[in-house]
Amino acid sequence: MKLKSLEISGFKSFADKTKIEFMPGMTGIVGPNGSGKSNIIEAIRWVMGEQSAKGLRGDKMQDVIFGGTSKRSPLNRAEVSIVFDNSDHYLKTDWSEIRLTRRLYRSGESNYQINGQDVRLRDILELFMDSGLGRESFSIISQGRVEAIFNSKPEDRRAIIEEVAGVFKYKTNKERAERELRQTQDNLDRVQDIMAEIG
Ligand code: ATP
Repeated sequence: MKLKSLEISGFKSFADKTKIEFMPGMTGIVGPNGSGKSNIIEAIRWVMGEQSAKGLRGDKMQDVIFGGTSKRSPLNRAEVSIVFDNSDHYLKTDWSEIRLTRRLYRSGESNYQINGQDVRLRDILELFMDSGLGRESFSIISQGRVEAIFNSKPEDRRAIIEEVAGVFKYKTNKERAERELRQTQDNLDRVQDIMAEIG
């Protein structure tokens, strides 16, 4: 799967529609301080379902909508679309190209689309679940996070590496299965006690 393009409009400092096409290989985004580099990364996290306004350096979600400058009035809508080439079907769907769109209005109204069809946030989260690409994943590491990773305790760092490697979900599944097994064993013990009593 490859990231193909990103379209940003009315999101943070991107008042006008801006399209970024990602070419094969590595893409670097350069620019002076405050020119909007982090806003591009935040647009990616936002369109993939980020729900925390604080995680996007705001107080409320509407803060992502272009708030105006001395030369330009604020806008009423933020819209971001991201396009993935999924011809290798890395994401478990028949689509070979996936276009996600998220919109938010100042009124608070919002919507999500996958390939032009209205969907729920849950559908977006499910699409990326276990892909290593979700909104909480370590495929996007913000500036402050790099320091946090280096300064974390070895066991926390191990948990991060396990999550990146995709081991984390198996550990979670294993813990759940073990819990269920323990409960089932308790139930069996109770049934055997009752059978012993009545037998
Ligand atoms: P640095 O190199 O310092 O990390 P950067 O290139 O990553 O900077 P960003 O942090 O992405 O820059 O952009 C910050 C700019 O975005 C600021 O000028 C800020 O005023 C502007 N900005 C943030 N939110 C909005 C908004 N809702 N409306 C208009 N402008 C906004």
